[in-house]
Amino acid sequence: MRNLNEPRTVCTASSCVEYVDVKGIKECKYKSHCHTNCGTGKEKHFKIANIVGHKNLRKCSAFNSDGMCKRCNCSWQVHMKITYETFIVEKEVHNVEKHLELINQENSIEIVQQYVNSFGVYIDELRQEQ
Ligand SMILES: [Zn+2]
Ligand SMILES: [Zn+2]
Ligand SMILES: [Zn+2]
Repeated sequence: MRNLNEPRTVCTASSCVEYVDVKGIKECKYKSHCHTNCGTGKEKHFKIANIVGHKNLRKCSAFNSDGMCKRCNCSWQVHMKITYETFIVEKEVHNVEKHLELINQENSIEIVQQYVNSFGVYIDELRQEQ
């Protein structure tokens, strides 16, 4: 997750986002930067950040008189102002299974047991986050 210096208007329509894997963590990336450095006055930016279809977005110069985006052709109502580049969608747990497999091949029951224990903790942490 990377913070942006200036908020930007992006599109949240499924055709305008992309899912990327960053070190086993799935992130949602906005492909369509409909208006970078959007808005006037910093305070205004951050107040409406991360709210899809906030009514103030309608005033953004990225949209034409019909409220459609000049950049991606989606309605202003599916747009959102963001202050960071990506967000995490879900944690990938498949890697852990793969790792267990490798340890199994090494035939060390002790290591497997250790790993299972820590994996159990990891799963619990995931559950608590949900
Ligand atoms: Zn704008
Ligand atoms: Zn757009
Ligand atoms: Zn769009």
